[in-house]
Amino acid sequence: AIHIQSVDKYYGDYHALRDINLDVPDGQTLVICGPSGSGKSTLIRCINGLETYASGTVEVLGLAVGDDRHLCNLVRKQVGMVFQNFNLFPHLTILENCVLPQIRAIGKDRAAATEEALSQLAKMQVQEHVDKYPDQLSGGQQQRVALARALCLKPKIMLFDEPTSALDPEMISEVLDVMQALAREDMTIICVTHEMGFARAVADRVILMAEGRIVEEGTAEQMFNAPTHQITRDFMKAVQ
Ligand code: ATP
Ligand code: MG
Repeated sequence: AIHIQSVDKYYGDYHALRDINLDVPDGQTLVICGPSGSGKSTLIRCINGLETYASGTVEVLGLAVGDDRHLCNLVRKQVGMVFQNFNLFPHLTILENCVLPQIRAIGKDRAAATEEALSQLAKMQVQEHVDKYPDQLSGGQQQRVALARALCLKPKIMLFDEPTSALDPEMISEVLDVMQALAREDMTIICVTHEMGFARAVADRVILMAEGRIVEEGTAEQMFNAPTHQITRDFMKAVQ
């Protein structure tokens, strides 16, 4: 579970997160949406210790994420993250992209790591590309490799930050499809996305952020059909 209480975050004078309170139980799929600059990435980065914050508490799987590097590393071992721009290692093959982090991060031996990598890559339907390099794959394929790589580390929680926003339209669904399958298993997922079809299909809850605050939360249907705030109404109209 993730437990965020009264978190404030500044970049210099800029107040990027304002009194964020959020609980995500195990197994839940949460979608975060909201206008550009509203603090979505910042919030998600606070969850796996990629950002510090000024006040409040972030607790992930019972561990406090904050200034303590050791605790942040423990958390990060159990939290997978997939970004907008795939972030694969360009000089490593697809297979090696998935094998190396297992050896480095969790100390697996190469044989076991390779077996796990091949299995995850097959689940993501990119097994025929294992010997290629990232730039030989389409964006959608690269993103599925990024997902396989994260899953190889057996995370308890997956964080996604706009995983489809850099993809050509025809590749978006091939990534959303594998994410949906993951959401239907018991993975805990937080996903920043404007893909409201995805939200409708699998999100237990949707939150809308604006100007560093959580402005509204509800089911995808509530956010669409009965938004309380004008910001939510405007946003939902814009992403339809
Ligand atoms: P987008 O939809 O464009 O990805 P976002 O909701 O993810 O936006 P954040 O990236 O969290 O927004 O940024 C929130 C605010 O904090 C923005 O105004 C941004 O300019 C500012 N910000 C983000 N990172 C930094 C940084 N490293 N230094 C200074 N300001 C930052
Ligand atoms: Mg962002």
